[in-house]
Amino acid sequence: MPKAKEAVRGLGAKYGGTLRKRYARVFRTLKQARECPSCSSMRLARTSSGIWKCKSCGYTVAGGAYELAQTKAR
Ligand SMILES: [Zn+2]
Repeated sequence: MPKAKEAVRGLGAKYGGTLRKRYARVFRTLKQARECPSCSSMRLARTSSGIWKCKSCGYTVAGGAYELAQTKAR
């Protein structure tokens, strides 16, 4: 088992720990299942920056770039 708590596939040893941790956080929240505001299914996915689309009913909604609820940049 690797020691790193926020290990994420695909980056290897590149880019430095701080950036990898930041990327891991964004990547994890991106892959989370989200509830569609229209049909309440958990198939809402990010289409592009700020655009979220439900794969079940086709409902499209604007939101944050990496998270449906807009948050302050950390
Ligand atoms: Zn839906």
